[in-house]
Amino acid sequence: MKCALVRPDGVVVRSERHPTDAARGPAAVVGTILDVAVGLADKARADGLTPVALGIAVPGVVDEARGVAVWSANVGFRDVPLRDLAVARLGLPTALGHDVRVGGLAEARLGAGRGAGHVLFVAIGTGIAAAHVVDGTAAVGAHGAAGEIGHISVRPNGPRCGCGRPGCLEAVASAAAIGRRYAELAGATPEVPVTAADGPVTAADGPVTAAEVAERAAAGEPLAGRVWQEAIEALADGLATGQALFDVTTIVLGGGLAQAGDRLLVPLRAAVHERMTFHREPRLVAAALGDEAGCLGAALLALDAAGARDHQEKR
Ligand SMILES: [Zn+2]
Repeated sequence: MKCALVRPDGVVVRSERHPTDAARGPAAVVGTILDVAVGLADKARADGLTPVALGIAVPGVVDEARGVAVWSANVGFRDVPLRDLAVARLGLPTALGHDVRVGGLAEARLGAGRGAGHVLFVAIGTGIAAAHVVDGTAAVGAHGAAGEIGHISVRPNGPRCGCGRPGCLEAVASAAAIGRRYAELAGATPEVPVTAADGPVTAADGPVTAAEVAERAAAGEPLAGRVWQEAIEALADGLATGQALFDVTTIVLGGGLAQAGDRLLVPLRAAVHERMTFHREPRLVAAALGDEAGCLGAALLALDAAGARDHQEKR
């Protein structure tokens, strides 16, 4: 877990990392989240600061209105009322958000989408998820599941997705999918010479990361070039669908894959450009806040919630 004390102007005054240890079960994870939050609030007070609100962001399906972590596969949350638990423990106004949505919120308000008004933040890592942020507010959806752009079907005959359907965007173009595809083709292409130094890596050599595929593609290796281009085309299909739905000014790409920089952005801009008919072409940029985006976004959400509460109390 990434944790931070953040000033209202977005400056991080202290940051900490703690192991999640999800194997201990959801109750223990919740206990750690609250312990860490109490610890940070105490440290703030010791430094003469006044904690005004708490923001927590988790992956999965999050009901922000009720403050409930509805479903989160990797930490085992099922209908955990995290916001109420935190309020009971810390006595601070608390907001519960979704990890990608708060990341998008931070990028839209403080990072690469600053000043854009309409932003689609797309995080590409093990999976692919997005946040649609309009004037500094991320859409949550009716069931807390807005932004699942990774499950747009882009290749109906493609590999099966973790969600059960074939050809979802994240089954084709996530960092994990790119590594898998490369290993699969390298293993199935015996005519390509395999050398330890610069040839394609086979399954026996262990997993190949998407970053390595991008690097090999840039170095002119045909197989890597093919896999990288396939992923670019699929991403462009997904982003074009996103643009058709949301008509944003700026698309901010985050997550591990965005670290490929221009190796990703330059061909992806061209592929998105090809797909634009009457839609206005979005500006396509890399995220600016790195792995601090989640903490910053959770803080923004908390401050928004605290403000709303003040407002409600005044009425
Ligand atoms: Zn899917």
